[in-house]
Amino acid sequence: MAKALKCFKEGCTFEVRGNSVDDVLAKLKMHAMIAHQMPQLPPDLIEKAKGSVRDV
Ligand SMILES: [Zn+2]
Repeated sequence: MAKALKCFKEGCTFEVRGNSVDDVLAKLKMHAMIAHQMPQLPPDLIEKAKGSVRDV
């Protein structure tokens, strides 16, 4: 089953999709780096993002 995750940034409509939680998290990190100039995501934000991953 595919996984989807909305960007954590308020006002950002970006949504990543992938084959697994790790996959969408990796893609979210790439997006955060490129779109939000955040090369490092705080661990609590990653945990929060993990909890927000949903099946699509
Ligand atoms: Zn974003």
